[in-house]
Amino acid sequence: MSQEPIFRDVVIIGSGLAGLTAAHTMRQQGIEPLVLERESDLGASWDRRHPQLTLNTHRSLSALPGLSYPAGTGAFPKRSAVIAHLQAFQDRHQFEIRHDAAVSSISRADGRFNVETTVGTILASAVIVATGRDAVPVVPQWKGLETFTGRVLHAADFGDARAYQGRSVLVVGGGNSGFDVLNHLSRIETGPVWLALRNSTSVLPKRMCGFAVHRLSPLMASLPTRFADRLIGWTQRVAFGDLTRHGFPPGRFDAATRLARNQIAIAVDDGAVAAVKRGRIAVVGGVTEFGGATVTLSDGTTLAPDIVIVAVGYVSALTSLLGSLGVVDETGRPHLRGGLGETAVPGLWLVGMQPSLTSYFQQAQREAKHAARSIARMQRA
Ligand SMILES: Cc1cc2nc3c(=O)[nH]c(=O)nc-3n(C[C@H](O)[C@H](O)[C@H](O)COP(=O)(O)OP(=O)(O)OC[C@H]3O[C@@H](n4cnc5c(N)ncnc54)[C@H](O)[C@@H]3O)c2cc1C
Repeated sequence: MSQEPIFRDVVIIGSGLAGLTAAHTMRQQGIEPLVLERESDLGASWDRRHPQLTLNTHRSLSALPGLSYPAGTGAFPKRSAVIAHLQAFQDRHQFEIRHDAAVSSISRADGRFNVETTVGTILASAVIVATGRDAVPVVPQWKGLETFTGRVLHAADFGDARAYQGRSVLVVGGGNSGFDVLNHLSRIETGPVWLALRNSTSVLPKRMCGFAVHRLSPLMASLPTRFADRLIGWTQRVAFGDLTRHGFPPGRFDAATRLARNQIAIAVDDGAVAAVKRGRIAVVGGVTEFGGATVTLSDGTTLAPDIVIVAVGYVSALTSLLGSLGVVDETGRPHLRGGLGETAVPGLWLVGMQPSLTSYFQQAQREAKHAARSIARMQRA
């Protein structure tokens, strides 16, 4: 790319599932976008995740537009199947993706966006940011953390579950990534495992009597939120009984409301709850501080795990990209108009930043369609 700024109608940042979906919907509107991707290959974000990862969402709801997974793919595709799916989509559509092009900032002047990248400046009438919501792992700055003599890692760095054989592990956080870690730990011979929870958690089984529960998600998503809360709460109770008997904090049964308001995704159980019931995993209170070999919990008791896995989530990296445009708060959470990725800056769209009851794939399609139609209207005007 030359050092002179080049002009493109539409620039998409990121070639993950959200960026590829956005490229597809733009082409359907007759506009060829330029996709900027900082990595050399497609699927790098999935490649960095742990090797035993399978999706929590059913394959029928986890596909890019118009492309199915090949015959023989399991109900919940493996990490490698997702990467192959992204590649197959790009092979079919041949979008213009510029790899090794990292965007450092986006600003606006004279009615156009200035996209600063490692390969030069690009001017664009519209920008779709699809850089991922799970971009930066969060590790709270607990008191004494730096003095802890055990190992502390984020769930993003979980790695191979077999490495935890014989080790005592404290998992902090019972959301999606906490349960993912516990599901895998429940299948190997670890030492004691604890789950530290500050609040109640919403959790659904991956399968019930062999049925993939996630297939009910379109029904749940079609209901008014308070009915979806009840259906999810009812499914949780039928699947697991009263979890407070096993140390979980009392449930609030407002999973759909929390997802819509606070973007807290519902955890998926694939063996962890049974391990809690068997006494292999103990549910304990939230972590308050660290010191030497011990971790102190909210009730004052202490534990001395070999390893602490922090599973309290991620934040986006939007602040550094979009800081000057006033569309992101200090925690990296975007201010969006409505539920479909629209920002207050005309021509700037975010795709893939919001979880949904169905899947990120489905939500990205809804957002990308809305963005592409609006951008096409804007360009025709
Ligand atoms: C462990 C885990 C399991 C998950 N399981 C599921 C599941 O079962 N079902 C589901 O629907 N969702 C799941 N998700 C959530 C979501 O689908 C994934 O996070 C998915 O990767 C999001 O896709 P994306 O395209 O929005 O972001 P990403 O996959 O992160 O893609 C963003 C792309 O943007 C690029 N990029 C970022 N910054 C820049 C920049 N400054 N310049 C240029 N390029 C940039 C990145 O290199 C990357 O290629 C899971 C997430 C995690 C962490």
